[in-house]
Amino acid sequence: MEQVPCSGCCTFFTPRNKAQKFCSRPACQRLRKALWQKKKLATDPEYKEGQRLAQKKWVQNNPGFWKEYRRRNPDKAARNRSLQRFRNMMQGEKPAFSQSSIAKMDARKLSIDSLSGQYWLVPEVAKMDAVKIFLTAIPGHCA
Ligand SMILES: [Zn+2]
Repeated sequence: MEQVPCSGCCTFFTPRNKAQKFCSRPACQRLRKALWQKKKLATDPEYKEGQRLAQKKWVQNNPGFWKEYRRRNPDKAARNRSLQRFRNMMQGEKPAFSQSSIAKMDARKLSIDSLSGQYWLVPEVAKMDAVKIFLTAIPGHCA
């Protein structure tokens, strides 16, 4: 089979079938699975409810995990607090290109051209404010 560029890393690889769009690198497989789950959560209420219940059960079976996680990863905890503050701030305001519209995109048709638009740049430094930026994609992502 002819080599094609991976939708994740743009490296050419030989797909096992016509539908395969991501190479076998662990990072590209994680991206593929994350895109699949994001789409599934957005389009399948039963799956979403099942995930919510499974998550709830897991938290009950692993008490204190997140507290310990935040203690062991203060940088990630700070980043999450910063992102949550931003989400709280954005509640009610609809960004030009929200994450939900990214989630609805078919990963096989993911095009850098369609990502042009206004974004919020959220600093990981807690004291800094988020700033609105405008990105213009340069065509030829995998070229
Ligand atoms: Zn790849």
